[in-house]
Amino acid sequence: MQIYKFGGSVLQEAYGIHRMAEALQQAGRPLVVVVSAFGKTTNALEELANLSVLENRQEEIFRKTEKLNEYHVGILTTLWGNAGVHVPGYNRLENLFSELTQLLTTGPGSSFDSWHDLIVSFGERLSSSVVYSYLKKKFPDIVYRDIREIIVTDSRFGSAGVLWEETVRRVRQAFSASENLFLTQGYIAGTPNKETTTLGREGSDFTAAILGSILDAEKVILWKDVPGVMNADPKICTDAVRLPGISYQEAAEMAFYGAKVIHPKTIKPLQNKHIPLVVRGLEYPDNMGTTIWDFEEMERHVPVYIRKKRQILLSVFPRDYSFVLNRHLEDLFGQFKQWVFNISLVQISAISVSFCIDDPGVLFMERVRKLQDDYEVYFNRDAELLTFRHYTEKTINEKLQSCLILVSQRTRLTAQYVVKRVAGE
Ligand code: ADP
Ligand code: ASP
Ligand code: MG
Repeated sequence: MQIYKFGGSVLQEAYGIHRMAEALQQAGRPLVVVVSAFGKTTNALEELANLSVLENRQEEIFRKTEKLNEYHVGILTTLWGNAGVHVPGYNRLENLFSELTQLLTTGPGSSFDSWHDLIVSFGERLSSSVVYSYLKKKFPDIVYRDIREIIVTDSRFGSAGVLWEETVRRVRQAFSASENLFLTQGYIAGTPNKETTTLGREGSDFTAAILGSILDAEKVILWKDVPGVMNADPKICTDAVRLPGISYQEAAEMAFYGAKVIHPKTIKPLQNKHIPLVVRGLEYPDNMGTTIWDFEEMERHVPVYIRKKRQILLSVFPRDYSFVLNRHLEDLFGQFKQWVFNISLVQISAISVSFCIDDPGVLFMERVRKLQDDYEVYFNRDAELLTFRHYTEKTINEKLQSCLILVSQRTRLTAQYVVKRVAGE
């Protein structure tokens, strides 16, 4: 058994789906194929969900939903050689769009979070529906599975936790070896009561890992728009090089510090079972990509550079005592957990604690006001976290040239800087 996952980066136009079909042709069986939403569809759906709670936005919602509809119909009809809209899969797509329109018109009711997950789930439901209708012709034995009935989670909408025992049972039943080729969705899941949930943004990689781990897959392959895991994001460093093999630990560190190529939760389920995770480029079929496995860490590793944008450096000073005490830390971490503040770096001094966190958007100022009851609070928005693994002074100095350093931390393997850009990008 192998798991192939195709992300939004490769499935943004019909061309990518043709390439996907070629990859499936070459692949061994049994095979489970996991797809994400096309391109940036999840962002568009999040925007629609947020607009629906504002007043007088019906016109805008209608326009944006139409645009999404045209985008999906465009991909479907291109796949079928522009043979008009009466192609396999069209009715199913239109049904999904009328369901979506209906939900957006009705609005969230009492629970915005559960409704939000339901709205964004349309990304994967639409993409899998288009892909299925096309693949069915090429691979008549392909079996469609709705993952919301198979991966079972708690009700933490937006970032639901997997209920493993029930999920293991259902996954083994749904993807039994009596069939050869399956198609299903990443990112979305369901509660025992059949409410739709999501596993956290970019969570389709994690879905592939959940299935790979439960099914004891021979390997899990993530097909991306890059040749593999590189020593820096090739979109910002043109001289980035592919890393042919890295350890689970190295991959986990890179993902945690913001290398968007792999979702951080993907590593552990596969590491536990020693299942190789392979990142390959759909456009680079002759290149074996990057294998992540139990490799001994290479002694002379290539320096790795990770840039995480939209960070906030938040510094708090307790008002009651001049020193930071354990109970302040307990209080702060407790609040951050509740607010789902994602912390990438912490620095403690005698009188203050600084946190580098992902920008939580509109909620941030409300949270700051809450903190101000007990703390003096300072913050720097639009900061970046730069992480260097296996660093050399030269690599660090080059990248820090146009940066104002707010915080720095170094260990033997990792150097980190919270910075503000002072010039250029
Ligand atoms: P998918 O939609 O398939 O999940 P993503 O867009 O999430 O794909 O991840 C692929 C992107 O990750 C690439 O386009 C690349 O810009 C970015 N990326 C960031 N860091 C790295 C890295 N170290 N190596 C490769 N790609 C990286
Ligand atoms: N479509 C989801 C997102 O954009 C999941 C994913 O792409 O992995 O977050
Ligand atoms: Mg992704």
